[in-house]
Amino acid sequence: MIDNLLNPWIKDLVPYSSARSEFSGKAEILLDANESWEGGNDGINRYPDPLAKELRREIERVMGIPYEMSAIGNGSDEVIDMLIRMFCCPGRDSIMIERPTYGTYSVFASTSNVSVIDVPLTPDLDLDEEAMMEAIVRKKPKIVFICSPNNPTGRVYPLEKIVRIAEINEGITAVDEAYADFALNFESAISYIKKNPRIVVLRTFSKAYGKAGARLGILVSDPEIQKVFMKAKPPYNVSSPAEKAGLDALSEYDEAMERVRETIARRNELTAFLQTLPYVVRVFPSEANFVLVRVSDAAALYSYLLEMGIVVRNRSSDLLLENTLRITIGSEMEMEKLKEALNGWNG
Ligand code: PMP
Repeated sequence: MIDNLLNPWIKDLVPYSSARSEFSGKAEILLDANESWEGGNDGINRYPDPLAKELRREIERVMGIPYEMSAIGNGSDEVIDMLIRMFCCPGRDSIMIERPTYGTYSVFASTSNVSVIDVPLTPDLDLDEEAMMEAIVRKKPKIVFICSPNNPTGRVYPLEKIVRIAEINEGITAVDEAYADFALNFESAISYIKKNPRIVVLRTFSKAYGKAGARLGILVSDPEIQKVFMKAKPPYNVSSPAEKAGLDALSEYDEAMERVRETIARRNELTAFLQTLPYVVRVFPSEANFVLVRVSDAAALYSYLLEMGIVVRNRSSDLLLENTLRITIGSEMEMEKLKEALNGWNG
C-alpha cells in the first residue's frame, strides 16, 4: 500500500552504503572510513552511527516507541523535509496544511516545488473537519500535515477527528506532536499507526526534553516507511554529540517531566494573568509551552516589550490571527519580568 504512494525514484533507490554497515563482528582497527586516526577520547574523530541504534533503543525503553517504528532526523524539520521528498513528486503533487500552523511544512514543500493547499481553521481556531475532508477528496494531496497541539494556537484536536481525516485521506497523514508533552491527557496518534499505516507521527527533543540545539526529531511510522526514510536520509544526519544529548535527555526523563509540570503551571498562571489586563481581547487556551494572546494593538505591544528587552513572537500577519502575540513560557524569573512589563503597558 505504501509502495504506491512513494515516489518511484525513492522506491527504487540504492542507498549509500556507509563503511560501518558493511561488516559485522568486533573490529579493533578501523581503516575503512577515511577518518582521522586521532581525535581525543570522545570518539568524535569517528563517523556517527547512521541508524542511531542506541538512541532508538532508549526511545523504545523510555518512551515506548517500538525500535522498528522509529527513525531520527536532524530535528523534526528534517523529517518534514524528507517526508515531502519521499512522497511528493516535484511540479505535480501537493501537501495540505491548516492555516495558521507551523511554517516549515509549506517552506519545505516550496523548496521541492510541491504545491500547498491551505485549509483555514474555523474562526474559533479548531480543525475544520468538513472543509478538510472535502478538499482531500477533491485535490488528493500526497501528505496532510496536522499539528496537534498546534503551533501557534496551542490547540489540541480530538484524536477521533484526526483519525477520521486520515481514513479518508488516501495519502500520508503526518501528525506533528512536537508539543504533546505539555498537553494534559494527551492521546497520541501513534496508537493508530497499526490500524492505518498511512499515519506517521513526528516528535522532537527540542521542546519538553530541552535539546533544541542538538537537532533531534523522531519519525514514528509503520516499519515500511521507517525503512525507506533510513534509506533516503543523509547517512550521517544525526551527529554523535546529538545522539549523546538525546541519551542524556532520556536518562533525565523524570527531570524533564518535572520541568514540563512547572511549565504547565506557569502557562496556566500566565493565561489567568493575561485575562486581567484591560488591553487583552482574548487568551487562547493552550496545551503547549506557549500562549497565544489577542491584544488591542499587537505591533505596539511587541515593540514596547522589545524595548524592555523581552522578545515575543508577533503572529498578527497570519490568517485569523490579527493582533496576536505568541509568548513562550520561560523561567519563573522571566515570567515575573514579563508580567511586570505587561503591567506597565497602557495600550
Ligand atoms: N513542529 C512544530 C510544530 C514546531 O513548532 C517546531 C519548532 N518550532 C518543529 C516541528 C521543529 O522542531 P525541531 O527542532 O525538532 O526541528
